[in-house]
Amino acid sequence: MNTLTRRRDKDSREECWHVFYGDVHVGTINIRAGVPRDSPRWGWSCGFYPGLEPNQHRAGEAETFEGARAEFEKAWNDLLPRLSETAFQEWRFKQAETAWKHRMWDEGLKLPTQERSGIAKCFCGAVISIAGLDAHIAEAHSDMR
Ligand SMILES: [Zn+2]
Repeated sequence: MNTLTRRRDKDSREECWHVFYGDVHVGTINIRAGVPRDSPRWGWSCGFYPGLEPNQHRAGEAETFEGARAEFEKAWNDLLPRLSETAFQEWRFKQAETAWKHRMWDEGLKLPTQERSGIAKCFCGAVISIAGLDAHIAEAHSDMR
C-alpha cells in the first residue's frame, strides 16, 4: 500500500518539503518567501504533471507546517480516488524520457528527431526510430512495469 512520504529539499533556502506517493512526486509544502508579515507563512501545492488535468491541481496557504500538511492530505485524499494508474504512468514515463534525453546529450548522441533519416543509435546500442522511441524508452530505460 502506497502512503505519502516527505523529503526535505536541501537546496532550497527556505524550508521546503517534496511529497511523494510511492515513487511519484505529487506535491510540495514550503515556507513562502517574500510574503507580507500578516500573510500565512506556509504554502502547499498538490498535483503532478504530466498525468493530471490542470483543473485537478490544488494549492493553498496555512499559518503552520502542520496546517499545510493537513490541508495537503485532505486535497490528496480527495484527488486520489479519481486518479487512474495511467496518470502515474504518464508521470513516470516523462521522468524516464527526460533522463534518457540527458544521457543521450551527455554521450554526444543525436536523437532520432535530429537525424534526417529519423533513425539514430541509443547509448545502449539499439537502433531507434522516431516511431519506436517511446516504446524503447519504456521497455529498456525505465522502471515502468
Ligand atoms: Zn536504449
